[in-house]
Amino acid sequence: MKNRLSHRLQNISYSQTIAMSAKARALKNKGYDVINLSLGEPDFLPPNFVLSAAKKAIDKGYHYYTPVSGYFELKKAICEKFYRDNRLKYTPSQIVVSTGAKQAIINVLLSLLNKDDEVIIPAPYWVSYLQMVKLCESSPVIIPTMMENNFKIYPEQLEKAITSKTKLFLFSTPCNPTGSVYSYEELKDLAKIFKKYPEVMILTDEIYEHICYSEKHTSIAIFPDIYHQVITVNGLSKAFSMTGWRIGYIGAPEWIAQSCDKIQGQMTSCPNSIAQIAAVTALEAHPNKIEYMIKEFEKRRNLVLEMIKEIDRFQFNKPNGAFYIFPKVSGFFGQKLHGKMIQNSDEFSEFLLEKTKVATVSGSAFGDNECLRISYASSEDKIIEAFTRIKKVLN
Ligand code: PMP
Ligand code: GLU
Repeated sequence: MKNRLSHRLQNISYSQTIAMSAKARALKNKGYDVINLSLGEPDFLPPNFVLSAAKKAIDKGYHYYTPVSGYFELKKAICEKFYRDNRLKYTPSQIVVSTGAKQAIINVLLSLLNKDDEVIIPAPYWVSYLQMVKLCESSPVIIPTMMENNFKIYPEQLEKAITSKTKLFLFSTPCNPTGSVYSYEELKDLAKIFKKYPEVMILTDEIYEHICYSEKHTSIAIFPDIYHQVITVNGLSKAFSMTGWRIGYIGAPEWIAQSCDKIQGQMTSCPNSIAQIAAVTALEAHPNKIEYMIKEFEKRRNLVLEMIKEIDRFQFNKPNGAFYIFPKVSGFFGQKLHGKMIQNSDEFSEFLLEKTKVATVSGSAFGDNECLRISYASSEDKIIEAFTRIKKVLN
């Protein structure tokens, strides 16, 4: 039966973040004391003012299909947010609201990519980028990075990877899974390269923009020479702890926005109406209204850095954003741990789940076989318990 599926589908794999989380949930349902550090999902409630706005939206009768690309009121709020937080000038005709940033990204890829086009992706990359590019039957071109350079690419690497087939450059800052944040200067240097190749588009995924610690977030579309090449993706899942509400959006050249509107009109009609009204309230609020969550993530990041130090053979750098740490665990490969031979990061992550009941995600999901992704979007108690268990089994 399986080979009756489309080649497109046979060519892609399941989301490993979601698969690991499902595994953790299944073990929990069987009664195991599982600590799930696999999924990138904040454990806060959405802010109260957003919850009230959603309740009011129900009472006011927002039950019907909305314009395909979102309510005008929301698109206006997004433009204002882009200007307030990122100094980016967009008009509502450049905005498309989607069912999560995930749909926003696939809309853009489907708009741009033909078979055999090349898409440059720095590794480690977010789990779905590679699979989405494959779904479009295009060719991913991976640029490897090093922990010593905080997993960031150098401009020379970028230029070397560009060919006549390059259609798109796809990255996240702050980065999932490494927590790296590109500085203004670093983005400026990349922008200089993109200026030389005006036919190359750039998709910048900024869904973690507010979750930044020492480095301030910069949007690459800020550089006027390349503004017309950039699609800026963002959403409410992370900063507002609204993962299930499914609101993401793009700011993009109008021709891209129109194309995403066309695709969305055939696929999902529009994003959820109630969530859109709540999103207006969320985006109109000043970012200092969500600072309490960012402060908490920073505390957890510092706690993780303290605890991870105590685990022999974990190599790591200091993440400056998002809520992940991405240690190198290859020091354990080729060795037996509690009688079990560990050869790669998949086996290492499996081993941890089996022996400690701590769920993580193998680095292979993100294009790095030597690392492991640990999410610290969990309470301090859970983080302490998880690292205590890991230390006990590994040291
Ligand atoms: N991009 C990155 C880098 C992410 O980590 C996520 C998390 N799911 C997404 C996009 C998708 O977000 P959403 O929940 O808005 O679809
Ligand atoms: N973005 C989150 C993560 O990387 C949620 C899972 C997903 O959407 O794949 O864990």
